[in-house]
Order: sequence, then structure tokens, then C-alpha cells
Amino acid sequence: MKRIVVLGAGYAGLRVVKQLTHAKVDAQIVLVNKNPYHYESTQLHEVAAGTKQPADITFDIRPLLARKRNVEVIIDEVTRVDQDARKVELKNGEPLDYDYLVNALGFESETFGIKGADENGWPLIDIETAVAARKHLESTLANYRRSHDVNDLHIVVCGAGFTSIEYLGELVHRLPRLAKEYGFPMELVKVDCIEAAPKILPMFEPSLSAWAVKYLERKGVTFHVATPITEVRPGAVVSNDTEFPANTIIWTTGVHGSHVIADSGYDQKRNRVVVEDDLRIADHPDQFLIGDVSAVPNPGNGRLYPTTGQISIAQADAAAANLASLLRGGKTKKFVFKPLGTVCSLGPGAGIASIDMMGHWKLKGSKVSIVKKMINDRTVLELANIRTMLESD
Ligand SMILES: Cc1cc2nc3c(=O)[nH]c(=O)nc-3n(C[C@H](O)[C@H](O)[C@H](O)COP(=O)(O)OP(=O)(O)OC[C@H]3O[C@@H](n4cnc5c(N)ncnc54)[C@H](O)[C@@H]3O)c2cc1C
Repeated sequence: MKRIVVLGAGYAGLRVVKQLTHAKVDAQIVLVNKNPYHYESTQLHEVAAGTKQPADITFDIRPLLARKRNVEVIIDEVTRVDQDARKVELKNGEPLDYDYLVNALGFESETFGIKGADENGWPLIDIETAVAARKHLESTLANYRRSHDVNDLHIVVCGAGFTSIEYLGELVHRLPRLAKEYGFPMELVKVDCIEAAPKILPMFEPSLSAWAVKYLERKGVTFHVATPITEVRPGAVVSNDTEFPANTIIWTTGVHGSHVIADSGYDQKRNRVVVEDDLRIADHPDQFLIGDVSAVPNPGNGRLYPTTGQISIAQADAAAANLASLLRGGKTKKFVFKPLGTVCSLGPGAGIASIDMMGHWKLKGSKVSIVKKMINDRTVLELANIRTMLESD
């Protein structure tokens, strides 16, 4: 019997396992993940701001998958893929042989080599980092009563991509409650968002991004665009000659793929591999790369699609169908991606959305929270709760 090894139990990896079991493939499926749980990475900013608890966005994958006859779950850390020997090397266990590999190891924080970013910024990339960022925020705000250092009430969010903006939305929603709880004056709180690019949320129509910026400005955020960060020091973010003092520095400037990609000798850029049109890689057709470790060219403009949960799930469906076909002696099909739109939340009560389903829809305000609640994500429908997805067998 062939063995399919799936690396990573994020959106992409779990969805592949689910689709392969649905397809009743005649193969042994081994899922490797470093934690016994799946986390909804699209909601990490809520844990970091303290509007959600880790338990709200995680679930144990083992009991769910224990019911699947041909699925084995291994909790371990992947250190390297020996592509020629077809082996996955693990931190603690013996190397795993595979006939087919689905690499879905996901994303890590990107610092662009900026001095001090790793040491002094709080990234939001998994449960551990989101919880650490929340604890730091709360203890620093609480410390103001003792220190009377205004920098304890200054927060800098680095970058103004989706994660930064969604985090800011949750943060400004929670700050008044934290002020009551820890007894600090709201009028001394300062929230700066620093972005190297000239525009905030350029992927939205200008009217929507302008609305989002105004909404957050009204709630106390100051945006600094065209302001490249040159260094992060303990207690300050530096852009050339300007210093932004703050004792909480949230580092959300972007992500790259898992370091295992470079460590395994893939032909990569920022730990992402440009895949063939059936999601395999040219020199090793026994491997599918999907999710944030992969890069898919958009045939419309030749540029790479942004990495999102939405495309990860669509890739997982296509990779599972292609694997099932290969196992039956068939051929693979081209992956075709139809983006359904984008939703950016601005805290629990507001957001902006650009949706391409049955026409083109531009939404802003509280309507978006309803959309977000319905789909529980910014990427419309495809990211239906993954737990329900696994239980629906
Ligand atoms: C705060 C935030 C909000 C976001 N919001 C949205 C959104 O609303 N909509 C959207 O479409 N996208 C959103 N994204 C992007 C989206 O989360 C990613 O594109 C998506 O999670 C990628 O899925 P994945 O399965 O490739 O990787 P991941 O979700 O990163 O999963 C990778 C899995 O592999 C495991 N793993 C990693 N390294 C190892 C290792 N060495 N060994 C073993 N296991 C390992 C991890 O623990 C994890 O379980 C958001 C991202 C962030 C950070």
C-alpha cells in the first residue's frame, strides 16, 4: 500500500487529509504536526488582543482523526525533507518514508533582516506567540500605575497588512476595558501603525481602504505611511531619523514560508516554492506543495497569488483530487483558483469587504461583521469551520 505523508495540520494539511479520506483512497495517510492541536491562524490577532481565548480557536486533532481507519497522526517537528531519499526527518522520531508527500508547513514571521525585530517585536504566528503578545500588552499597560512611564501606554504596530489592521481593530475595541481594569488614563494611550508602503490595504478599492483608515483613526490609531522601519530597539521603533517610543511593539510586517523549505534544498524564495500547474514540483513529481509554503502564479497577470487561507483550502482540494487520481493510475488536473473576495475585520463590530460572488459587492461597517460571523473568516465561504468539516464524515 502506498504511503502519503502530509506535513502540517493547518488549513491546507487538514483539508487534504479530509479530502483523501472522503475519496477513500487506497493508501496509508500519515499526518505530522508539531502540536497535538490545530489552530485557526486567521483568528490569532483576536487571541493576541485578548478578545478570544486560545481554546476558542484550537482543537485537538487526534480524537477527530482517530476515527479514520487509514490515518495515523504523528506529533513531532519536521526538521528536513530528504527529497532524493523520500524521507521526512523529525526532531524526535525516526525518519518517515513516503511514496507521496504533501508539504503544508505554513508560515513564519518575516523580519526582512531588520535589526532588533526578532528580539524586540512580538510576532503573531501561532498560539504561543499570540498568547505571549497578549500577556506582554496587558502586563505593560498594568505596569503604568507603578511606573508612570507613558511608554507603557504606547503601542506600535509594525506593518499595515491584513494582520496588522485586524489586530488594530481588536485592540482599539479592547483598550477602554483594559483601562478600567488596570486603572490607566485612556487619554495617554498612543497607538501608532508604521508602514513602509505609501498606502494602507491597497488590495481594496480606495473608498473601502479610506473608510477603514478613518474608522481606526477615529478610535485613536495614527498611521505613518511611507515610513520604512530601519531598526527595532527595546522600547522604540526607528525609521531613519525618527523614533517611535513604545513599550509594546507588535511585529506584523509579513510572513514567509517554513524554514524547513530552505533547509531541505527546495528552489525557493522566502521559503516559498513556485509550483507546477497541478501543484507538484517539477524535479520531484512525488511532492505536492500547498498553502503558505507554495507560490501559485495568477495566469491573468503572471503575478503570484497572495498566500491566504482561502487559496490554501482550494489548493488542498485540488492536490487531494490529483493524488487520488494518481493512485488510481490516472492523470493530474490543472489547479484553477477563483478568488471569492476579501473581508477585513476592524474589531467585533465593523469591517470592510470586497466580495465576488453573484456580482461584485463592496461592503463596510457593521454589515461586514455579520458577513464575518456567518463565514467566520475574511475569505468567504471556503474557510467554513474546519472542525465541522472533519466531523461531517
Ligand atoms: C492573524 C492572521 C489573520 C489571517 N486572516 C486570514 C483571513 O481572514 N483569511 C485568509 O484567507 N487568510 C488569513 N490569514 C492567512 C492564513 O492564516 C494563512 O494563509 C493560512 O493559515 C495558511 O495555511 P497553511 O495550512 O498553509 O499553514 P498554517 O496555517 O501555518 O499551518 C501550518 C501547520 O504546520 C505546523 N507546523 C509548522 N512547522 C512545523 C514543523 N516544522 N513540523 C511540524 N509541524 C509544523 C503548524 O503548527 C501548523 O499547524 C491570516 C493570517 C494571520 C497570521
